[in-house]
Amino acid sequence: MGVFMVRLPVIFLLGIFCASLSSLSAFGQSCGTTPLDVQILGSGGPRMNPTRASTSYLVWIEGRARILIDMGGGAQHRFGESQAKLEDLWMVGISHLHPDHVSDLPAFLWLSHEVRKEPLKVFGPTGNDAAPDFAIFLNRLFDEKTGAFPVLGSALGGSYGGSGVRPDMGRVVAGGVRLDVGVIDAVKSDPSVVLQREGTTVTARKIPHGNMPTLAYRVQTGNVSIVFSSDQNGTDPGFVEFAKGANLLIMHLAIPPGANVPLHATPAVVGRVAQEAAVKQLIVSHFGLFELDAAIADLRTAYNGPLIVGADMQCTPVL
Ligand SMILES: [Zn+2]
Repeated sequence: MGVFMVRLPVIFLLGIFCASLSSLSAFGQSCGTTPLDVQILGSGGPRMNPTRASTSYLVWIEGRARILIDMGGGAQHRFGESQAKLEDLWMVGISHLHPDHVSDLPAFLWLSHEVRKEPLKVFGPTGNDAAPDFAIFLNRLFDEKTGAFPVLGSALGGSYGGSGVRPDMGRVVAGGVRLDVGVIDAVKSDPSVVLQREGTTVTARKIPHGNMPTLAYRVQTGNVSIVFSSDQNGTDPGFVEFAKGANLLIMHLAIPPGANVPLHATPAVVGRVAQEAAVKQLIVSHFGLFELDAAIADLRTAYNGPLIVGADMQCTPVL
């Protein structure tokens, strides 16, 4: 009993100390302490997962969150958790229009004009029979008269942008930041230049993901580069060229070893692509529901370089 009497206050004080630490970290950004960092906001795929949001990545350059790649479900919360600032972003790049890569975009934009005045550049792929062109997709979401979210009409330059009451609808709208929309050719083989700003160049190139128009993005800052593969089946040698020599490649482990799915690459194929591209480091992410150890072992049959298993909020310096 006497022992408990002594220990209880110690445990209590330890609890206060830990709570103080976590509240301290809540006030500071969670990544961006080196010149170039990548943070995973969502390391999951489409299926529910207790610890993983759907796909989203953040590139921190010189301590600021500059580039956001994909915005799957849960990514809006993770962006807030990261303490990144919406007003710091140079661009948002969407790889394709499956919900696990884009469904949090409306949530992310809603009321965004309160903290950001500068238009936000957003990019996505051209369309085909399987998915609309990215500009049409945004119109279907945000057109102030015909869109699913007319209250976000200001995102596309609607005449009732900002806050106020739409006289024709008689209700309050709040809006979101104006978007500067770019549609990237997801058919041609040559990469497209998406953004050039302050020594950073972003390019994008098509990747094979079934019949979905899908883009990989490459971020080059000085001599350092990051490639975001997104979902793909690994059958296009042109992607290996696109990712060649990257300091960091992020690829997706969506299916287990031996599976045969036209949309995705097996772990061994992911490993082969990374090995052939001679990247300096590989992060795997976008996990489906399967035995991860077996998937990593399968990947390792084809790739022998540095490997990181992705997790939400994980921050990796890129050297
Ligand atoms: Zn996906």
